[in-house]
Amino acid sequence: MVGKMERFRHKKSLGQNFLNDKNILNKILVGTCIDPNSLIIEIGPGSGALTEKLIETNNNVLAFEIDTRLDIYLNKLEEKYSNFRVIYTDFLKANINEYLSKYEYSKLYVVANIPYYITSAIINKVIDKLRPDCFTVMIQKEVGSRLMAKPNTRDYNSLSLYCQFYYDISKICDVSKNCFIPKPDVDSVVLKFNKNDNKFKVADENEFFSLVKSAFKQKRKNLRNNLKQYDLNKIDTFLNSICKNLSYRAEQLSLDEFVSLYNFLNSEN
Ligand code: SAM
Repeated sequence: MVGKMERFRHKKSLGQNFLNDKNILNKILVGTCIDPNSLIIEIGPGSGALTEKLIETNNNVLAFEIDTRLDIYLNKLEEKYSNFRVIYTDFLKANINEYLSKYEYSKLYVVANIPYYITSAIINKVIDKLRPDCFTVMIQKEVGSRLMAKPNTRDYNSLSLYCQFYYDISKICDVSKNCFIPKPDVDSVVLKFNKNDNKFKVADENEFFSLVKSAFKQKRKNLRNNLKQYDLNKIDTFLNSICKNLSYRAEQLSLDEFVSLYNFLNSEN
């Protein structure tokens, strides 16, 4: 693998840092824990190191790769395995559900080692459009901390709440920058998102996330300032009931409390 990869001209603009560590590949595979009769979507398979391991689980694997130059690796896999298909397109622009309708499966997995500059866009699209049963994602360590962040920490933000609303998130492993070719500037982490089966219930999810985003809009401002467009009296009544008030900042409310606040605002009290 190392010899072959040295001849490939990696494009920094596409975040092409390829994983070159068998130990980490195995950890990702074991940590993802893929059930039989599943469909696995891989975003950005690169030269196919992880792809081949996913294919060997005997599930169907559907990969989306933007760089057609990688066909020198991926087409060989397609010829070798009937359960693998690669689509050369931008994952962010593709109508993924059109491809999914061609498969029958019990569980949907998404696995991705994604370029850092489009991390949020990819996570949003995976959750919003695919909502897989399980999503294993390798991302920059700092972003990982934000996604797993708990209230009253610097990293806690509206993206943390969006991900945690649908998924229980756990860490599979840390990945040193030395595990990649070429070596990136930052260390990474592999996270596993497990669907939490509607643990949190709200009448309208878009409205709920608008409330959350507004609350975090200006991080240093308090709820009174960030939630001006809502009924502040009602918000204050709710906050008092949980021993808080409008001077609190968004980062001081848990996901449970945001859900209760939203539901209270929508109630007839
Ligand atoms: N999965 C491989 C690995 O772990 O070695 C490659 C990971 S590399 C960090 C990111 C991969 O995503 C590259 O192959 C790159 O060409 C691809 N990529 C970048 N932007 C993409 C996009 N918008 N849609 C699909 N693939 C993309």
